[in-house]
Amino acid sequence: MKIICIGRNYAEHAKELGNALPTEPVFFCKPDSALLPKGNPFYIPDWTNDVHYEVELVLRIDRLGKHITEEFAPRYFGSVGLGIDFTARDVQEELKKKGLPWEKAKGFDGAAVISQEFVSIDELPKEQIQFTLAKNGDVVQSGSSADMIFNFNQIVSYVSRFMTLKIGDLIFTGTPSGVGKVNPGDVLTGNLEGRPMFQVKVK
Ligand code: ZN
Repeated sequence: MKIICIGRNYAEHAKELGNALPTEPVFFCKPDSALLPKGNPFYIPDWTNDVHYEVELVLRIDRLGKHITEEFAPRYFGSVGLGIDFTARDVQEELKKKGLPWEKAKGFDGAAVISQEFVSIDELPKEQIQFTLAKNGDVVQSGSSADMIFNFNQIVSYVSRFMTLKIGDLIFTGTPSGVGKVNPGDVLTGNLEGRPMFQVKVK
């Protein structure tokens, strides 16, 4: 199983990090060891002082495919979950400056949170799925899939030109603006169309 993440897929978030808007999807991978086991707290690693939360809609691939066209992309995912792409921003900034890969900043243990529940795409509004992340009860990120630069079908089609998509693969589809630092003691809760999806304690 692999985890694919789309970067800079919301204009406001690209702006807040000082990045130009992409003309084609930007993606990177996290190893399966990055998945935070369900119910576990998230431990801030000792080699970073600036871990950011990034709440994202997550697609789960349920059909094997490569070179998938946008038209047929909906056949390859049937449900949407919610997750956090934890990012060691200080480490990522250093790597970006040097033109090096981001894996250390994005692929560490626990850096991928996913909800236990995935909601059938048929139960969700088409093209405008609302989601939020709250930190200690205050909403810090609020997004809608309507604001994605590249939609689900475009993402699935694009990634499958380079990598075969397998059953169980996860695609994090990018984060809206409002990313920020986590501190020990924080509690993060994710909400998708009014449904509570996960709660993560930070240690
Ligand atoms: Zn992200």
